[in-house]
Amino acid sequence: MLKLENVTKTFGNHKALKDVSTTFPENKTTVIVGPSGSGKSTLLRSLNFLERPESGHYYFDDLDIDLSKPVSSQTILNIRRHTEMVFQGYNLFPHLSVIKNVMEGPVQVLHQAKSKAHDQAALLLAKVGLAEKADVYPAQLSGGQAQRVAIARSLAMHPEYIFLDEPTSALDPELELEVLKVLLQIAKEKQSMIIVTHNLAFARQVADKIIFVEDGQILFDGSEHDFFATDNKRILDFISAMT
Ligand code: ATP
Ligand code: MG
Repeated sequence: MLKLENVTKTFGNHKALKDVSTTFPENKTTVIVGPSGSGKSTLLRSLNFLERPESGHYYFDDLDIDLSKPVSSQTILNIRRHTEMVFQGYNLFPHLSVIKNVMEGPVQVLHQAKSKAHDQAALLLAKVGLAEKADVYPAQLSGGQAQRVAIARSLAMHPEYIFLDEPTSALDPELELEVLKVLLQIAKEKQSMIIVTHNLAFARQVADKIIFVEDGQILFDGSEHDFFATDNKRILDFISAMT
């Protein structure tokens, strides 16, 4: 279980997160929505210490971290070992074939035997619909294919959580769809995920839980059903502006 309590993050004199408390349940998909600049990325990036909030508590399994104190790089590495961030721009290794991209983490970080890592990578590429692209290089992939490789690569590490910040925002609609389908499948398999998205139709399909962030604060924190059934005017305005 991943949990934040009273987390605050300031950039200069701008409070990007104001006293944020929430939980990210295991085996569920939590979707973070909200207007541009509201603090969604800051919230997500704080979860694997790409941003460093100045106060609050961070809980992950048995870890209880007081964010107002220095956090050791060992602790951060340990958290990153159990979480995977999928970025908007895919960032695959350009000099490695697709299958080698998926094998890289398991071999280099988890010290898996190459044959085992290869078999797992082949299975994962099949799962994201890219078995036939195993031996091509990232430059030969479409954006949607590259993003699916990035997802396979994160799954290869067997993370407790996968974090995705607008995973399809760089893609044309038809390429977006193939990535969303893969994410829906992974969500069905109970992989814990936290996804920032502007796509409310997708949020509705994939989310168990929705967090609505505005101006650095959580205005809604509850089930997907309750979010879309809300009578909160601010949320209704947001939903109608986005759909
Ligand atoms: P978007 O939907 O546009 O991606 P967001 O909800 O992800 O927006 P954040 O990127 O979390 O928003 O930014 C929250 C606020 O913090 C914004 O006002 C932004 O300008 C500010 N901010 C974010 N990162 C930095 C930074 N490194 N330095 C200064 N200000 C920052
Ligand atoms: Mg963002």
